[in-house]
This record gives sequence, structure tokens and C-alpha cells, in this order.
Amino acid sequence: MAMARLDGHLFVVNEDRCFGCAACIALCPVDALVLEGLLAVVNEPECTHCEHCIPACPVHALSIDPEEIC
Ligand code: SF4
Ligand code: SF4
Repeated sequence: MAMARLDGHLFVVNEDRCFGCAACIALCPVDALVLEGLLAVVNEPECTHCEHCIPACPVHALSIDPEEIC
């Protein structure tokens, strides 16, 4: 089943909080996250906004925000 993206929203990684633990990376069912050094980076167009990874982040660096504040 295709999951709907949230209109007008973007999945974002808070670069100030992320410390590269990689907990989120393995959880993404569509491999939209990669680790670049000590930072998780999202291929946003690939992200389905499924939110699976969001609770896994120990420092709450992951969110889906309205585009205008991204
Ligand atoms: S919200 Fe879902 S699709 Fe997007 S990066 Fe997280 S696990 Fe992957
Ligand atoms: S789980 Fe959080 S701190 Fe760990 S790599 Fe992902 S975004 Fe960064």
C-alpha cells in the first residue's frame, strides 16, 4: 500500500541535534536516509512521511514540518 506524503510538508533532520548514531537509518523502509559523516541526510523526495524513524531518534532530531518553516 502506498503511503501518502503530507502535502506542503517536508521531512527534516535537525543538523544541530543529530550526532550520527544511525538509529534512524536502518528503520527506513524506502532507504531515504543515509549517514554522511556524523549526520543523517534525507533524500526527501524518496521519503514517504511514514514516520517510522521519528520515535527512534534519541535526540528528537527528526520531524515533518510545514514547508514554510523548513
Ligand atoms: S519518515 Fe519514513 S520514509 Fe521518511 S525517512 Fe523516516 S522512515 Fe524513511
Ligand atoms: S537517530 Fe537521530 S541522532 Fe541518530 S542518526 Fe538519526 S537523526 Fe541522527
